[in-house]
Amino acid sequence: MGIQGDIEEHVRAIAQAMEEEGVHGETTMLKTPESVDLADGVVIPGGESTVMGYLASTNGTLTRLRQRIAEGLPALGTCAGAIALSARVEDRVVGPTKQPLFGVLDATVRRNAFGRQRESFETAVSIPKLGEKPFRGVFIRAPVVSSVGEGVEVLSRLDEGIVAVQQRNILATCFHPELSGDTRLHRHFLSLAR
Ligand code: GLN
Repeated sequence: MGIQGDIEEHVRAIAQAMEEEGVHGETTMLKTPESVDLADGVVIPGGESTVMGYLASTNGTLTRLRQRIAEGLPALGTCAGAIALSARVEDRVVGPTKQPLFGVLDATVRRNAFGRQRESFETAVSIPKLGEKPFRGVFIRAPVVSSVGEGVEVLSRLDEGIVAVQQRNILATCFHPELSGDTRLHRHFLSLAR
């Protein structure tokens, strides 16, 4: 989705992942419902989930993406993108929020879950599905996934909560894989899109 957030980093990570996998494809910015119809997969970046949800809801992009993801369009949501994909959101401070959401991932997400002391940090994250080597997890005012429904596979967790999940065609991470220099998550996303 090309509306708000750290889009360029994802474009670069996807390009690199495609090269490594020998996949030919193009990245475009999804800003309208028509552009959504042409996509084989969508990345919803980090940024500010309230702004992103609001902007996407003003021209029908949110509704169209929600439909297509529910029908199986592969989606990767990172940080604010993970929040936007989730069905339920609460804020660490203010409790349940009423922001516009895609709502396709059967999960509850707690925004800004790490608090002021640890607003931004890096830590090694274990994601067994992607191999033994730990992933460099870059967390920026990150959420955690506080609970998931039955169809959701937990890919990774820290002491504070779940930080990566997959529900069929939907991948969501609380950290920023596009800033890690490690393309394993984007390659996994590409495998869903093929
Ligand atoms: N705190 C942001 C939000 O709630 C997410 C931060 C990020 O994407 N790095 O939308």
